[in-house]
Amino acid sequence: MAVVAKTPEQIEMMARAGALLAEVLDEVEASVAPGVTLKELDRLAEGIIRDRGATPSFFGYHGFPATLCTSLNDAVVHGIPGAQQLRPGDILSFDCGLIVDGWHADSARTVGVGEIDPGAQALMSATAEALEAGIARCRPGNHLGDVGAAIQKVVEAAGYSIIPVLVGHGIGRSMHEDPQVANQGVPGDGPQLQEGWVLAIEPMVTAGDPGVKLRPDRWTLVTADGSLSAHFEHTVAVTGHEPRVLTASGARIAKG
Ligand code: MG
Ligand code: MG
Repeated sequence: MAVVAKTPEQIEMMARAGALLAEVLDEVEASVAPGVTLKELDRLAEGIIRDRGATPSFFGYHGFPATLCTSLNDAVVHGIPGAQQLRPGDILSFDCGLIVDGWHADSARTVGVGEIDPGAQALMSATAEALEAGIARCRPGNHLGDVGAAIQKVVEAAGYSIIPVLVGHGIGRSMHEDPQVANQGVPGDGPQLQEGWVLAIEPMVTAGDPGVKLRPDRWTLVTADGSLSAHFEHTVAVTGHEPRVLTASGARIAKG
């Protein structure tokens, strides 16, 4: 494992990519409504990114055909935005990556469409809380296992399951760099985080069993038992001070 630490100047470059990505996700989230198609959300995201002179990083990645991943209900990740219309009660995970001046950012959210089931809301809330718990451990000297354990603890306390085959990652000049960032772990295990590491932390959580299967489109991963899934992701820099969430809406610093 060769983790490339970023200089403060490089983290500022990555923060520019992260800020644009937060804007893109804010716009997509504001457009989520019954009747809207997934393709419309994808076009919206791509338009903003290209208007700003940035590059969508998912498009063409291993042949992925879109700017956004849109994963509805039992879909966990990597859903392809098509003509499908959002319906009240759906939960939609949307994931996006982009490149500004050679630097990547990667972030995802899950939102409800119209009125949603309280159980679906609880799943989303627990997943978002798990992400925050993981981010709070992103400090020099903590171990990767501390990050995973913090995520796992929140998810399991709420009665949900981590999907262990899906992990976060380092990010920088490439979308996926070392190290892998598991969403479960044992405190004190694994390498120690260092100042300058930038990590995409991304719990992928299900209300049911943690098994997943691939849809016939060969992209969309769905829960094998059909249960709902949620996904939240931020690109986070380990600094000498507080963890810095590069993809936060507005300037924000994680607590803890
Ligand atoms: Mg992502
Ligand atoms: Mg990612």
